[in-house]
Amino acid sequence: MTERTLSIIKPDATRRNLEGKILAKIQDAGLKVVAMKRVRWTKYQAEKFYEVHRERPFYQDLVAFMTSGPIVLMVLEGENAIARYREVMGATNPEEAAEGTIRAEFAENIEANSVHGSDSPENAAKEIAMCFDGAEIVG
Ligand code: ATP
Ligand code: MG
Repeated sequence: MTERTLSIIKPDATRRNLEGKILAKIQDAGLKVVAMKRVRWTKYQAEKFYEVHRERPFYQDLVAFMTSGPIVLMVLEGENAIARYREVMGATNPEEAAEGTIRAEFAENIEANSVHGSDSPENAAKEIAMCFDGAEIVG
């Protein structure tokens, strides 16, 4: 099934000029970039995006981290894009991420872990709508 998923290159990665290396791993996995933009989130935008984690102890730190610098938002498209991109990203904690994954190679720690990827079709649709106008997505 062709799916779309939201990808974010996080501030730890833009700070180290890793956008190109991360993009290469995404494209080498056969995922197609159908939308892309560089933004810097306000506190309000980050709080809204990570609302599901509001009760978690790391929520305020995560919001501070995600607003600490520019991020790159992308919509990726492909067969089983949601699960496939999560495989390319690797586990949340880079110490547990499989070899060759983005997080194994680039993440600094469990918070500054270089990338985000949607975790379900429902969340992908919500996150894409939060970040892009329909006209900004060109398949
Ligand atoms: P993402 O949603 O960013 O793709 P994920 O689905 O692997 O990552 P989640 O459990 O959804 O992980 O957590 C969202 C983000 O919150 C993580 O990517 C990470 O930046 C941060 N985070 C998760 N767990 C922790 C933790 N224990 N301590 C600090 N930050 C954390
Ligand atoms: Mg998640």
